[in-house]
Amino acid sequence: MTMYKGFATKAIHVAQEPESVTGSVTTPIFQTSTYAQEEIGKHKGFEYARTQNPTRFAWEKNVASLEGARWGYAFGSGMAAIDTVMRLLSSGAHVVCSEDMYGGTFRLFDKVLSRYGYLFSAVDMSDIEAVKAAIRPETAMIYTETPTNPMMRITDIAAMAAIAKESKALLVVDNTFATPYLQKPLSLGADIVLHSATKYLGGHSDLVSGVVITDREDIAQQIGFLQNAVGAVPGPFEPWLLLRSVKTLALRMEKHQQNAQAIAQLCEQHPKVHRVWYPGLASHPHHDLAAKQMSGFGGMISIEVGSYQQAQTFARAIKVFTLAESLGGVESLLCHPVSMTHGSIPKEKRDRLGITDGLLRLSCGIEDSEDLIADINQALSLL
Ligand SMILES: *Cc1c(COP(=O)(O)O)cnc(C)c1O
Repeated sequence: MTMYKGFATKAIHVAQEPESVTGSVTTPIFQTSTYAQEEIGKHKGFEYARTQNPTRFAWEKNVASLEGARWGYAFGSGMAAIDTVMRLLSSGAHVVCSEDMYGGTFRLFDKVLSRYGYLFSAVDMSDIEAVKAAIRPETAMIYTETPTNPMMRITDIAAMAAIAKESKALLVVDNTFATPYLQKPLSLGADIVLHSATKYLGGHSDLVSGVVITDREDIAQQIGFLQNAVGAVPGPFEPWLLLRSVKTLALRMEKHQQNAQAIAQLCEQHPKVHRVWYPGLASHPHHDLAAKQMSGFGGMISIEVGSYQQAQTFARAIKVFTLAESLGGVESLLCHPVSMTHGSIPKEKRDRLGITDGLLRLSCGIEDSEDLIADINQALSLL
């Protein structure tokens, strides 16, 4: 394991030793619910598949190593991962979270967990003073996502870690957009990192899954307990697909961001695009912070085309990009946040955040740059 230093080497090798019976080079899918025991009180460490599954274990160890941590826990979806992390807290706990978050996370906090006595303060996480002002004696967690969806705002993870430490709160970072290839929140002081593995980790738009990672033993024990006690685990097939997928994560991310940078620059020059949000552009308000805490700027861009009508014209004209929710797959996707992913956020809040009728979010895939650029150009020419 110490031989595996680089990111791609870890992705391909950690917990990927050939299987012991046949030498199978890929980890088998252990499609079983239970395991034969030798005699009463004697088994091989595997009793029941909600608790232990070798395929899942291999994926959990592998993805933990990518975040530079010792423990990973897989879940049936990103939301199941987030829900399980929130169960570390108890009724009456106060959470400071970002106001610009994945819509499903906002819904879980606002519509579900608030019924169980959790208290939430949503703030602009890029404003360090606002976060400090929101802290209370009963604050148990700071929960953030960076870059945010869809406005690509950047949270200063190290600054949040300092505030969390001082107030004895946990810092949780949703690292879905950046992936561990571009950003390692635990190395910047976060206590817990989580992902919707549905997105870049899976990378092929063919699965739904989630993962929680930590290098703190006390937290790992609690998450492991909750994973088994609550039971929101994946079957063995998703971990197997994910093991295959992360082998190419480094290559994919390089191409995703190369395409995104080219498209962002094109859009910034284009007279029909009012504004571009991409952390890799010098015009992005948090460009310097992104350059400091990330090793690249990722594959996600948002553009403002001025109105619902213009957005509709663009969406009808685009051909290589597919109009669809989700992100992070090899194929380029176009999303209209107001009508698709962020409809549940009240209009006045959307307006304040910049999530307008003319906002479009691009998940730049790994197709040839020339084809994506030509597609964007022809669609913009109709506006
Ligand atoms: C998609 C997403 C989630 C939710 O994950 P699912 O796998 O869809 O349950 C959480 N956070 C972010 C940033 C996401 O993009």
